[in-house]
Amino acid sequence: MQAVLVAPGVKDRKVLAFERRDALKDKDAVSGLVRAILASNPAQRSAFYVFDLAKVVDLFRAWRRGLPGVQPCYAVKCNPDPALLGALAALGAGFDCASRAEIEAVLALSVHSRDVVYANPCKPEAHLEYAAEVGVSLATYDSEEEVAKVKRCHSGCELLLRIKGPDGGDARVDLGTKYGAHADEVVPLLRAAQRAGVGVAGVSFHVGSGAANLDVYRGAIEAARAAFDAAAALGMPPMRVLDIGGGFVSGPTFDEAAAVINSALAQHFGDLPCVEVIGEPGRYFAETAFTLAARVIGKRTRGEVREYWIDDGLYGSLNSIIMDHYVPTPRPLATPRPGEKTYTSTVFGPTCDSLDTVVTGYQLPEMSVGDWLVFDDMGAYTTGAGSNFNGFATSDIKIYVAYSS
Ligand code: PLP
Repeated sequence: MQAVLVAPGVKDRKVLAFERRDALKDKDAVSGLVRAILASNPAQRSAFYVFDLAKVVDLFRAWRRGLPGVQPCYAVKCNPDPALLGALAALGAGFDCASRAEIEAVLALSVHSRDVVYANPCKPEAHLEYAAEVGVSLATYDSEEEVAKVKRCHSGCELLLRIKGPDGGDARVDLGTKYGAHADEVVPLLRAAQRAGVGVAGVSFHVGSGAANLDVYRGAIEAARAAFDAAAALGMPPMRVLDIGGGFVSGPTFDEAAAVINSALAQHFGDLPCVEVIGEPGRYFAETAFTLAARVIGKRTRGEVREYWIDDGLYGSLNSIIMDHYVPTPRPLATPRPGEKTYTSTVFGPTCDSLDTVVTGYQLPEMSVGDWLVFDDMGAYTTGAGSNFNGFATSDIKIYVAYSS
């Protein structure tokens, strides 16, 4: 645990740290910590996050237990907060980066370039040249044009052929409409790399973020094996990397996914024990580890209806409502009194756009300006995509780290 406490990302973030023993067990424990933060920081009058570092440690252990043969390469896009990146680096994770800035962020934490996979099938030339400079030399592709670009900008780079996962994963965010070679494109894309003299180290896929039908991993692993065999039939050097992407959700769903993956790996890759298997989990590590506390900054009463403004919204970290289909269920920080009356309420974000509406027709007790609303499971695809619209900067939101002593 000491290693986590000195993780560079945690120190550099100038976070205020609170010591405690275990991962926060439930919503009451989270609320208790938020109250403690506010009690000891009376000057804290704007939205902030609590980052439960011990939860990340627990999730990392659960990953190692569930998928012992799969090295997690955390998908930085999911939440690039340096405290989270630093913790995962200290725990021994690799990283999936999609741009120069993401590569810079992890290399700044002393992560070795060989522990980074440049997992964006379409890369700007300047970013590829930077990857060449710093020695990030494993990247995904799913088009012939990308092969030519890699050859031009980073000739020493090895490729992972990104294949489209099977349909039917019922994912929260489907990535297959944008990325992944179709079955009939696999051989032409392998040939393109062969002709160009660019090495293909293996295959990657992503079944979609938050996949509900976990059997989709089995189909994707089977398709990956077919691509390995196609490369062998073309006389290419044996592939050695299988990248099973992300899509994982923490909790019982992860255990189910792990069982499917372990069984499919044994079935389809059991005869290739030297293949290195990596994954690109994002949501799995980030989602439940972050809680948002937002402050009520305005109120309007219309008969029995209550309308509130809070200081984070759809242009800030709650962009996840649109981008990630997050369904907000905010709860007041104040402990509810038995039998307390609730009102049909609307909660708006702080900007002047009417789209900036967090919930409508939602039951809340009477609240006042200066009260707080707590949003759980706010770590995935939130702050990373927030904007500065109307002068409300997502980056101004503070992060408090809670960790085990
Ligand atoms: N890898 C790639 C290439 C992605 O595009 C994404 C998400 O968009 C991830 C990994 C992380 O996915 P998740 O957060 O579902 O684990």
